[in-house]
Formats: sequence, C-alpha cells, structure tokens
Amino acid sequence: MTDTNLLDNRPPPRWIDGQALAARVRAELKRKVQEASERGLTPGLAVVRVGEDPASKSYVGAKVRACAEVGFHSRHISLPATTTEAELLDRIDALNRDPAIHGILVQLPLPPSIDEARVLGAIDPAKDADGFHPLNVGRLLLGLDAPVPCTPKGILRLLDEAGVDLRGKRVVVIGRSNIVGKPVALLLLARDASVAICHSKTADLPEEVRRADVIIAAVGCPALIKPDWIKPGAIIIDVGINRTAAGKLVGDVEPTCFDRATAMTPVPGGVGPMTVAMLLDNTFELFCRGLDYRSTVVEE
Ligand code: NAD
Repeated sequence: MTDTNLLDNRPPPRWIDGQALAARVRAELKRKVQEASERGLTPGLAVVRVGEDPASKSYVGAKVRACAEVGFHSRHISLPATTTEAELLDRIDALNRDPAIHGILVQLPLPPSIDEARVLGAIDPAKDADGFHPLNVGRLLLGLDAPVPCTPKGILRLLDEAGVDLRGKRVVVIGRSNIVGKPVALLLLARDASVAICHSKTADLPEEVRRADVIIAAVGCPALIKPDWIKPGAIIIDVGINRTAAGKLVGDVEPTCFDRATAMTPVPGGVGPMTVAMLLDNTFELFCRGLDYRSTVVEE
C-alpha cells in the first residue's frame, strides 16, 4: 500500500477492526467480573429464543459463548416455534423475578403469532439488556440514563476508536429500524452531529450519501452503497449482514468504497463483534446498578 491515497494525497484508508476492539472490551469485562466474583457476585444474562430461525440460532450461540468467556452466568432458554405468547410472557416474568439474572434478551424476530411489542414491554426495564423496552427507548430519546441498544452503542465505540470527532459533522444513517437506525441517529445527535435518516422511500439516496462525512449503512441490501456516492475521506460504518448465494457474509457497502474512505468497518469483523460485546457491557452495567426504573422515573 502507498503512503498516500491516489485520489487526493490523503493518508491511505484503514479498516476499523471491530474484532480487536470487542476482544479488548471482553478482556476488560473479564477482569471486572473476576473482581466481583471475589465478593461472591456474578452477573447473569438470560437469552430467550423462540423457533428455529438459523440466523437467530447463530447469534444466540455467539452471545452465550461470549458470556462464558467473560465469566457471566448465562441461561439460554430455547423454546419451540409453537410457544404461545402467554407461555413466553410467563418465562419473562420468572426471569424478571430471578435474582441471579441481571439482563434479559429476547432474540428477534419472534414468530408472527407473538406480539413483539408486548413481549419487549414485559421485560423489567431494569433488566433490559437490549434497551428495547419502551421506557428505556423514551429515556434514550430524552437523553436520560438508560441501557443503550447494543448495535448503536457498538457503532459509537467504533467511531471513537477511529478517532472521529462527530461535532458538527454531517452523518447519514441509512435505515430507520427501531434496533439500529433510529437509536443510532439519537446517539449521534447527542454527540452534536447533524444527522439525516434515509430509508426505502428516500428520493435521492446517492445525493444524501454524497453530502455525508460519516455514513452508517443499516439496510440489509448487499452492496447497495456505491463508490461514486462516497465523499472522499468519509468514514463508513457498514452494519449490514447479508449472506450471498455462495454462503459468504457481505455488508451493505460495496467493498471498493474503502478506497475513497478515511476508515471503514469490514464485514464480517466490524459491527457484529461489537454488538455482542456491548450486550455484555450492558448486562454488566445493569448488574452494577440494580436500578429500579419504575420507582425512579417518576422523580425525574
Ligand atoms: P430492517 O429490515 O428492520 O430495516 C431496514 C431499513 O432499511 C428500513 O428502515 C428500510 O426503510 C431501509 N431500506 C430498505 N431498502 C432500502 C433502500 N433501497 N434504500 C434505503 N433504505 C432502504 O433492518 P435492521 O434490523 O435495522 O438491520 C439492517 C441490517 O443490519 C441487516 O442486514 C441486519 O442483518 C444488519 N444488522 C447487523 C447487526 C450487527 O450486529 N452487525 C445488528 C443488527 C442488524
């Protein structure tokens, strides 16, 4: 690789290594968990999965393995696709009351017969490891302390790792889902970025992307973002996880966009490992705080 970028004498682009950053986060958590265990305390995470979705199985497997690595107590509850909403709510209720469990995660998507909003709303907000409970979503919107959804939290850590000062920067977020697009836009706004949120009905996506200093692609469409859309020197965070017919994992950003960027996350090895690391981080925070939002929110 040359010392400068052929486009305009900029330093060569670099990859933002999510794998390495996530390993550092896990190592730091492992140290803290050891300290807690010397006082007889162990953080506990329950991961609930319903049905046989292969991607969900693989994500849950990674989360349970990560728990073991850092020394968390983890409980993996795997329920058949025939599970009723009432049965799932009973399981959540039991976990809410279980003192060994500090964080609860229900892997999405749920089977269509189950009301996702009702299930997420049944998790004790003080054990809400994903930050998807409506109370915590509201708290995030208002800038109050709350568990931050894992993928958006990981994206912010990756931007910090890349040394990006977000203040006054134009950021485009492509995708407006409740789990990535909307919460990451709120976090970026809280860091004083000027944020545009684009989606499937955006009139001229290439033009929106061309204006951006920082691009967050969270769509689920392989190679949607093209090199000629990238402002030279932009920072690119590729959240997309798409599996090709050949079984290869690819992002939402065409890989050659890297050549025009200052820094970019790879797929795999970028946002994915950070999502899992932030789940552990959230669970550890909930373990430390033991907050009961239902009693504190009224006073604020
Ligand atoms: P989603 O399906 O809920 O939302 C997709 C969004 O993309 C929607 O808001 C939609 O309006 C928008 N969109 C669709 N087509 C578009 C187009 N042509 N132009 C512009 N916008 C378009 O998806 P999600 O759950 O937010 O996930 C998005 C992607 O991120 C998926 O590939 C998913 O697998 C991945 N993901 C990765 C991680 C991770 O840890 N790396 C975590 C969550 C999601």
